[in-house]
Amino acid sequence: EKLRQAEKARKPIFSFEFFPPKTDQGVQNLYDRMDRMHDLGPAFIDITWGAGGRLATLTCEMVNVAQSVYGLETCMHLTCTDMERKKVDDALQEAFNAGCTNILALRGDPPREQEKWEAIEGGFHYAKDLVQYIRKNYGDHFDIGVAGYPEGCDDNQDPVSLMDHLKQKIDAGGTFIITQMFYDVDLFLDWVGRVREAGITVPIVPGIMPIQTHAAFLRRATWSNCQIPPEWTKVLDPIKNDDAAVRKAGKTLVAEMCQKILDAGIWSLHFYTMNLAQATKMTLEELGLVSADGHITKKALPWRQSKGRN
Ligand code: FAD
Repeated sequence: EKLRQAEKARKPIFSFEFFPPKTDQGVQNLYDRMDRMHDLGPAFIDITWGAGGRLATLTCEMVNVAQSVYGLETCMHLTCTDMERKKVDDALQEAFNAGCTNILALRGDPPREQEKWEAIEGGFHYAKDLVQYIRKNYGDHFDIGVAGYPEGCDDNQDPVSLMDHLKQKIDAGGTFIITQMFYDVDLFLDWVGRVREAGITVPIVPGIMPIQTHAAFLRRATWSNCQIPPEWTKVLDPIKNDDAAVRKAGKTLVAEMCQKILDAGIWSLHFYTMNLAQATKMTLEELGLVSADGHITKKALPWRQSKGRN
């Protein structure tokens, strides 16, 4: 809903993604950070699905806390192929009970020890099956997001069939798309054009990965198979051993990329925070969407809600 409103108002909104930390201390630190980042004014936050046992439970718990304690509109990621249907049912019910109205419906990565993905018996095959399942069981309660891949995904590099599969997810009831990270805006905008040509009209939310260190920048770009524009390499390579310089130059590069996206009429930016605040905040400041003292500015569509805590 907020994505549509931003398109209508032609004003930017931004959102933050977090993942469930492995330790109890990590969880507490993240709650503190979420509390502080609430003041920046995100339209919503995402909590990724930590597949399997404890981390999956933690995803549900974090959605609950973000919604009810911090008053943040939350989108829960949910994968469907690596677990039994009962776990999917329980997660959806918990999200519903917490007042969460957004799910990012995903197939899921293969388990670590398994290189290739295999469906479990009697389970879901693709993300579109989960989209259908949520629609069947919850009607229109949830806005359902799906993943989009401007530069191909791990197990499919064919742009034509990937576009077909994206369309199937939307036809099954998906209402918005969040993309895999990318750094080449021209490739992204070309993909957006093809998405629209395919008759997909739902809002597209580009996934933005801020730059924290040079090593992490390269690792993540390689991991997600995204192209690094040659101008970026020219700027970042000579300073790669100076973390502060990389963060500063990275902030400028990522902000320029975000500005180009906004100038093209795409009004939402989704930040993969990696559970850290600094690089995301610096980028938002550079864009003029957040002030130096950490508050949303008039340039952005305001989504400050009062914190729900007593
Ligand atoms: P799908 O859309 O189902 O596609 C998976 C593959 O199947 C593709 O190759 C597709 O082309 C193919 N396919 C789809 N439909 C058909 C069909 N009808 N016939 C034949 N082939 C078909 N993983 C997590 O574990 N937790 C997370 O929280 C998480 N969050 C993510 C957030 C974003 C924004 C993105 C981009 C990815 C995320 N992932 C997450 C990773 C994701 O689970 C993997 O990339 C996974 O391999 C694919 O998921 P999908 O939902 O895109 O699958």
